[in-house]
Amino acid sequence: MPELPEVESVRRGVHEWTAGATITRAEVIDPRILGTTSQRRIAVGAEETFSRSLAGLRIVSAERRGKFMWLTLGESDPALSLLVHLGMSGQFRVQTAADEMHKHTRAIFHLERELGSDFTGSGSAGVGDAGRGPERFEMRFVDQRIFGHLGVQPLAWSHGRFVPASTTHIAADPLEPAFDFEAVVDRLTAKNTALKSALLDQSLVSGIGNIYADEALFRAGVHPLANPSRTRRSRLASVLESAILVMHDALQVGGTSFDSLYVNVNGESGYFDRALLAYGRGGQECVRCSTEIVRITVGGRGTHFCPNCQKSPRYR
Ligand SMILES: [Zn+2]
Repeated sequence: MPELPEVESVRRGVHEWTAGATITRAEVIDPRILGTTSQRRIAVGAEETFSRSLAGLRIVSAERRGKFMWLTLGESDPALSLLVHLGMSGQFRVQTAADEMHKHTRAIFHLERELGSDFTGSGSAGVGDAGRGPERFEMRFVDQRIFGHLGVQPLAWSHGRFVPASTTHIAADPLEPAFDFEAVVDRLTAKNTALKSALLDQSLVSGIGNIYADEALFRAGVHPLANPSRTRRSRLASVLESAILVMHDALQVGGTSFDSLYVNVNGESGYFDRALLAYGRGGQECVRCSTEIVRITVGGRGTHFCPNCQKSPRYR
């Protein structure tokens, strides 16, 4: 699953290429993309409702909280958003109508932008001649396995900003201005669960997924099964700090992939794999002490740690 850095990379690309453009038509190729993991059944007429609610709206910005991404749309009342889950294999492609259609294209957003508008991104999608009317292009959502999701939602206020209504329970992520480091550490100290599970609790802090939780615990030298309520506050702060640093590192690696003619980003984290020190390294030597990295399951999630660098908590 894509985690915060991967979703942020996609968001930046989509924002760069589409902010300021108007959706002239939203075309659903495969209605299954409108379903969610909890609601796979698609209501009759869902495609029409989806298309109708988006037609004519302007893309103001591409935004993200944690692993959730959405487009904030202008000229609608109430204010609407296009919520996007990349799922396992979702990706956006910004292309022209003449470009070949990928066989796993699930939806097409036909976009139009007045040339000479206030658009400041570097992308131009390679269409339209300067001074000859609006530039027309398409943002296509390609998803091979259809674990992704597209949905239109009203915006609602939560943790200091407007977010899609279904995501108001998600806490601010560490890269947001609304993120309060000390308050999150305070709440962490009250958790009576495995620390790894607490880090994955999206109502506490969003955007820390399985990969970055393992990396953060390794960097801070804290055992994934440590009980936060029985762990020194400074240790918890160190883990949270490590999570923020490792995500910043991943962003730096992922933030450079948008100089091609179109956005072609799937949320896979492959580009950061070589920098991972714990996650996915079960059976390999620890880079610090050469002890074998161990894989266990915590809260149903594969968890990797060094039993020497991340000592078992003594109270267990
Ligand atoms: Zn070690």
